[in-house]
Amino acid sequence: MAWKQQLVDGYQRFRASHYPEQKSLYERLGKHGQSPEVMLISCCDSRADPSDIFDAAPGEMFVLRNVANFVPPQTDDMDYQSVHSAIQYAVDVLNVNAIVVMGHESCGGINACISGAGDNPDDYISHWVGLLNPARDVVKTRVSDDEMQQEMEFEGIRESLRNLMHVDSIAQRVESGQLNLLGAYFSIIRGKLMFLDSETNKFVEVPPA
Ligand SMILES: [Zn+2]
Repeated sequence: MAWKQQLVDGYQRFRASHYPEQKSLYERLGKHGQSPEVMLISCCDSRADPSDIFDAAPGEMFVLRNVANFVPPQTDDMDYQSVHSAIQYAVDVLNVNAIVVMGHESCGGINACISGAGDNPDDYISHWVGLLNPARDVVKTRVSDDEMQQEMEFEGIRESLRNLMHVDSIAQRVESGQLNLLGAYFSIIRGKLMFLDSETNKFVEVPPA
């Protein structure tokens, strides 16, 4: 039961250090509700934790995590409810100022897509990563095999941002300046963050200090 002891140890460290420092913040948030300014959509990957990367306090970020940090298109059948209900809540109820889609280096979901898992989908992962096949097929025509992994990690973020803009309530808020969309990318190996430049559509490193 090493895993359970790890959880207990972590909780006890939290209670000894972070919690006393933020006790009143937790109490205030618990009593009066959350009003985060940012919704952060990131991968489930244990190596790219948005709360760590952005050093976020409780209540600061409304976080959705899924395999390959992907926002699929909305459909008439209301598919992908887990993703779109979180987005709807963030936009319509919490009125967040920004939605950030953060991808990361060495993403297993992206790798599964490139490897063809979605070509003959027969389980949850292959169905899910297969949603990125159209993007993969476009990227494949413009980069070498060596560049595919990172280019697809980038393109998955761009595709998610495009799909967000197809949501009417989001497009309206973006156009009126109430809501901002941002692509981000975290290099696990170098510990470096990049933001997507909306003019060049390229990822640019954020200064670490
Ligand atoms: Zn990932």
